[in-house]
Amino acid sequence: MADYDLIIIGGGPAGLAAAAYALHAQLSVALIAPDLGGKVTYPFALREMPARDTVWGASLVRELEMRVRNNLDHHINADVKKLERLPDGRFAVHMNVGAPQTARAIVLATGARPQRLYVPGETEYWGRGVSFSAISHAPFFQDRTVAVIGAGTRAVSAVLTLAPLARQIYFIISRAQELQDTRAANLALNHPKVLAFRNWEVQQVEGDEFVRSIDLVGGNGEIRRLDVEGVFVQFGLLPNNSLVREFVALDEDGHVIINQRCETSVPGLFAAGDLTNIHAEQVPVSLGEGAKAALAAWEYLALHPKQDPA
Ligand SMILES: Cc1cc2nc3c(=O)[nH]c(=O)nc-3n(C[C@H](O)[C@H](O)[C@H](O)COP(=O)(O)OP(=O)(O)OC[C@H]3O[C@@H](n4cnc5c(N)ncnc54)[C@H](O)[C@@H]3O)c2cc1C
Repeated sequence: MADYDLIIIGGGPAGLAAAAYALHAQLSVALIAPDLGGKVTYPFALREMPARDTVWGASLVRELEMRVRNNLDHHINADVKKLERLPDGRFAVHMNVGAPQTARAIVLATGARPQRLYVPGETEYWGRGVSFSAISHAPFFQDRTVAVIGAGTRAVSAVLTLAPLARQIYFIISRAQELQDTRAANLALNHPKVLAFRNWEVQQVEGDEFVRSIDLVGGNGEIRRLDVEGVFVQFGLLPNNSLVREFVALDEDGHVIINQRCETSVPGLFAAGDLTNIHAEQVPVSLGEGAKAALAAWEYLALHPKQDPA
């Protein structure tokens, strides 16, 4: 069993940036992930708008990926199944293959995944009108009609972000969802460009080359077709927190809570990127957070030197 200074779990933008800084610091480091770099190409096209790539920082991700591939001796191509804090303060990392590995510090960067609608057309029109990220795509909807699906803070913020730009916004809130009585929700509901459909379900997304409409069914069985060019699926993101949810403080949505140094509630355990409660799921944000986590871990390791075996 190898004993590292630092183990980084996750090979997306946050994990890569953390690995690059750990290499710079000359720590003994392993990065465990089934992939490196992740997906940073998300072309998005609309009628009369040729495909654009919406990721800022993709070239930096690729550069870091090359640096890590060329210089990191220990990229372990595996899924982590269990993370354990040992009585001496170190961590044991158990994988789907190979022996467990130990380290004095961990950077956890396992990301989050969007919740889907699971209706016909959703996958087909992804990147051609269907979006999971208002931050990335709202600015393309100048004077276009869109639907926003969801009821939580992500959906409300998408409506408010789109309101100054779009022609009309249909705000679709299903039976299963509660719109909270917040100032932001009230602003969204009362905006003159917003028409809310409460207790309506999306049945399908339709179009030709691009999205043209969505079909809704109401609580009373009524069917409606709304002409839209965009469909923002804005449910909360699901953080990949299964390795730590039993022993680390999480917020109400399951994000790992970190402070400004990327420290979690457990000493020696740092977290970065979409998994955490930082604002904005974006590649450049995750790059910065991963770098910050490694720098904080470097300092932690200096303050907690390796104990000589007795
Ligand atoms: C559909 C979609 C469109 C997007 N569009 C944009 C955009 O246009 N612009 C933009 O800036 N951002 C966009 N994003 C967001 C961006 O992809 C994320 O903010 C960013 O990738 C987060 O980086 P991360 O390193 O925190 O996590 P991720 O990139 O999600 O990486 C997580 C890593 O952890 C690994 N992992 C997970 N669980 C385990 C485990 N148990 N063991 C080992 N490894 C594990 C994964 O394999 C992966 O390597 C989009 C995201 C999605 C889903």
